[in-house]
Amino acid sequence: MKTLVFIETDNGAAVASSWEALGAGLTLGGEVAALVIGAGVADVAAEAGARGAGKVYSIDDASRALFDLDFYAADVKAVLSQSGADAFLASHTGNGRDLAAAVGFDLSAGVIADCLALSADGGKLKGVRPIYSGSILADATASGPVQIATIRPRAASPAPNIGGSAEVAAVTPTAGASPVVVENVERAETGEISLTDASIIVSGGRGVAKDPELGFKLIGELADTLGAAVGASRAAVDAGFIPYKHQVGQTGKVVRPDLYIACGISGAVQHLAGMGSSKVIVAINKDSESPIFSVANYGIVGDLFEVVPALTAAAKAKL
Ligand SMILES: Cc1cc2nc3c(=O)[nH]c(=O)nc-3n(C[C@H](O)[C@H](O)[C@H](O)COP(=O)(O)OP(=O)(O)OC[C@H]3O[C@@H](n4cnc5c(N)ncnc54)[C@H](O)[C@@H]3O)c2cc1C
Repeated sequence: MKTLVFIETDNGAAVASSWEALGAGLTLGGEVAALVIGAGVADVAAEAGARGAGKVYSIDDASRALFDLDFYAADVKAVLSQSGADAFLASHTGNGRDLAAAVGFDLSAGVIADCLALSADGGKLKGVRPIYSGSILADATASGPVQIATIRPRAASPAPNIGGSAEVAAVTPTAGASPVVVENVERAETGEISLTDASIIVSGGRGVAKDPELGFKLIGELADTLGAAVGASRAAVDAGFIPYKHQVGQTGKVVRPDLYIACGISGAVQHLAGMGSSKVIVAINKDSESPIFSVANYGIVGDLFEVVPALTAAAKAKL
């Protein structure tokens, strides 16, 4: 199998989850090339080689400074044909999923979107992806001249920088005018720290049930004090204590923060699938037999309604 991995850039820097897509590509075996598109992206192209891509195709042009679906899709199709790749991978970011869908449509190729895991068997790409709001995990394959897949951010390990180097082929951007002119990109300021980017996450589970509003208020105060994002277990989301966008786990977001504080969460395997690779896990649970303690680096046996405010007060005093 010959795989081409899209390395998305933003302001001349690689979007971090693109290295995870490259990491997923490298686990498939066969030849793996990277495609970097952007403006002022020579360092990103060199880094793709350092992280193990066998060859790097680089479209480094002012006209590609902002993501434009028509231009980018035309570029990808041109490089797929030039490289002879029969698989195309991108991170499941907003731009990555748009691009995969557009390329798949143009080539009449199936797209395996939002994969949690990827493998290859005899040249056939297989993706594991959640369906029915994540209630079922499906094994999916794609038909068509090119097999296309997107990988959910944080689901795969980033390709490590092994100090390698690869030939960088400068590719001329495809000519033609795009029907859409992207003039500027403005970022929405939600004031919230994104779960997938956060280096600290404080999460709440069904353990807040006796007073969910107060429970998540206390969790939010600890998160604010630590500059952390707020996460939740599916039980807390299903009970309506907090919206789905906070859900961590197999059918929520996959996170890898430096510190994950689980408050009133039992540690079900589906929750661990989303946060088990956190660097340091702290568990607060009133049941000393709770399975979360088997993965926690630090455990506090106690009532979260007492422990969480005490931690907040201690953190405030310290910070
Ligand atoms: C297909 C599928 C996908 C799923 N996907 C996900 C997913 O993405 N994410 C996810 O989280 N789950 C997921 N689940 C659900 C998962 O199996 C568990 O049901 C869920 O994680 C349990 O959430 P919880 O730990 O908050 O609740 P519980 O298991 O009920 O645990 C609550 C914990 O709180 C403790 N507690 C209670 N009161 C207090 C208190 N006052 N102070 C401190 N501790 C207290 C209890 O001792 C207990 O350990 C999925 C399940 C399926 C079948």
